[in-house]
Amino acid sequence: MTQTVFPVPASLEASAHVNAETYEALYRQSIDDPETFWREQAQILDWARPFTQVKNTRYSPDDVTIEWFADGRLNASYNCLDRHAAVRGNEAAILWEGDTPGETKRITWSELHSEVSRLANALKKLGVKKGDFVSIYLPVIHQSIAAMLACVRIGAVHSVVFSGFSSEALAGRIEDCRSRVLITADEGMRGGRYVPLKKNADAALEGLPFVEHVLVVRRTGRDVPMKTGRDRWYDEALAEVPDTCEPVDVSAEDPLFVLYTSGSTGKPKGMLHTTGGYLVHAAASFKAMFDYHPGDIHFCTADVGWVTAHTYLIYGPLANGATIVLFEGVPTWPDASRWWQIVETYKVNIFYTAPTAVRSLMREGEEPVRKHDLSSLKVLGSVGEPINPEAWLWYHEVIGGGRCPIVDTYWQTETGAVLLCPLPGAMAQKPGSAARPFFGVRPELLSSDGTPVEGEGSGSLCFADSWPGQARTILGDRERFLKTYFSAYPGFYFTGDGARRDADGYYWITGRLDDVINVSGHRLGTVEVEAALASHPAVAEAAVVGFPHEIKGQGIFAFVTLKEGMAESHDLQSDLVRIVRARIGPIATPDRIEWASQLPKNRSGKILRRILTRIAAGDFENHGDTSTVADPAVVADIVRRIQLQP
Ligand code: ATP
Ligand code: MG
Repeated sequence: MTQTVFPVPASLEASAHVNAETYEALYRQSIDDPETFWREQAQILDWARPFTQVKNTRYSPDDVTIEWFADGRLNASYNCLDRHAAVRGNEAAILWEGDTPGETKRITWSELHSEVSRLANALKKLGVKKGDFVSIYLPVIHQSIAAMLACVRIGAVHSVVFSGFSSEALAGRIEDCRSRVLITADEGMRGGRYVPLKKNADAALEGLPFVEHVLVVRRTGRDVPMKTGRDRWYDEALAEVPDTCEPVDVSAEDPLFVLYTSGSTGKPKGMLHTTGGYLVHAAASFKAMFDYHPGDIHFCTADVGWVTAHTYLIYGPLANGATIVLFEGVPTWPDASRWWQIVETYKVNIFYTAPTAVRSLMREGEEPVRKHDLSSLKVLGSVGEPINPEAWLWYHEVIGGGRCPIVDTYWQTETGAVLLCPLPGAMAQKPGSAARPFFGVRPELLSSDGTPVEGEGSGSLCFADSWPGQARTILGDRERFLKTYFSAYPGFYFTGDGARRDADGYYWITGRLDDVINVSGHRLGTVEVEAALASHPAVAEAAVVGFPHEIKGQGIFAFVTLKEGMAESHDLQSDLVRIVRARIGPIATPDRIEWASQLPKNRSGKILRRILTRIAAGDFENHGDTSTVADPAVVADIVRRIQLQP
């Protein structure tokens, strides 16, 4: 939509790990000779036993095999911890900023190493063995990272459940992997409020007698009930065990963790990731996509409960020995300058967040940003949804001071790590485009009959071959795994997203294929229409869905949220229709525009179009799977407004 192109900053061209020339050469090699390419990339890790096999992958209809570095052995906690503690023990691994301003902690590599080792010993004492699942339901505190690394230190598999989830969601996820041990906290703190984690955990465990042990971190120190024989305080359990614990070598294909998708399109899927391939992809891509150099301070705002945090807050950075900022709270508390205060305080160099957050902070204006010195920033990242050009430009100008490249990273819980993104020293950025494939990644756009689209064009975004970080299965449901990702286009991995490729070979995500709107036989992705609406200065955010239309088959229903202080009016509706017609064409004319004070989102902040689709069709009762809806009141409010319409 926008033609603006932002070239690679001259400073980066010279100093970046990957520049335009090396990208072309390495990408070629990664496709022509993946064995050599990934063998070299894998040297970013320390292997307890070097692998001889690199890649054993097939997507044939009768045989989907995904194995990487299969005969190698390693330990992820060793790679993320011991080798750094040995050389820079007293430097900071984690800079923790609590929800309450001023509450901070600096955790060195040695301290983290010792805490992880103690916890690993405590878990062993509770009977946790290699291959066992351990559930983790913790806020964004350093103990959540310690818990993950302690599990993998002894070969156990973690399942982190986002601490904003209810007791039912927690129960379902514990049941799914049948963990005997849960690690939680008395309470969490978010935006000045207490989150009753232990209370939720107790409720979740009522129907789960197989959970034998609960370790409870004292976060707020307020009183919570402890069940004798089952519950123990984390600090007490750690105090009585030694602070050394040999990491166990596991096979590269042994499971590392299970993690659920965000639930944007339906019931969340529990993706199982294994150790070697995931860690190679996480570590190598972290270094390349943020152009990480030793000493850089990295701040990823994702909650530990999402894959973004698994890969680019924890495993990728720690495997590289990076110092991370870990922030417990929310960007708008006590006020909308909180993140920028953190960037200034810790002199953050790399900042990674989601478009939803950029849009909501943009709504607050520039004043909260201008108060702070953000000159330490070098690279900005975006993930989770397409970023509309309006938000991209604001992020670039107001946050990045016009000097920081924005890496728009396209990937999924299923993919483990990035698949498409502009490497900052190698590719010019186009606002709204996730640019080009990461090394070893072979995107294809397939038309509905399965033929690949050549050159410029649009289609279903698929991948023709495996990459190391790919999930190996859906936990306990191989059938669903094969059906969801490998049945629509035999021989390809199917993402569920639509995309367009432009003349420069850049990819533009056009929206979820589930959300495609078919207007009089024309298939329209949601992204372009939403971006056109959001380009109006009064608009904060927009979501469009299809609804049954007598003549056109489907009409376009737009839900629009306005910026602070903007008034809803008929004139504004007409303006919005005009803007969409001008930018895309009459075919994309919204048939209905409704104002919404907020859009329904899931707990990772993504717009839930599937719920809006039902509302637009006049179904106000049945919203489908609502287990991941962040705020049901938002849905109720939209329904109420629509019902009030004549
Ligand atoms: P579910 O699979 O349960 O419906 P989800 O797809 O939102 O939920 P995630 O794995 O968290 O779960 O998100 C991956 C999806 O997010 C992608 O398939 C894509 O639709 C979207 N996405 C992620 N990053 C980007 C990006 N940079 N640009 C465009 N879309 C993105
Ligand atoms: Mg998905």
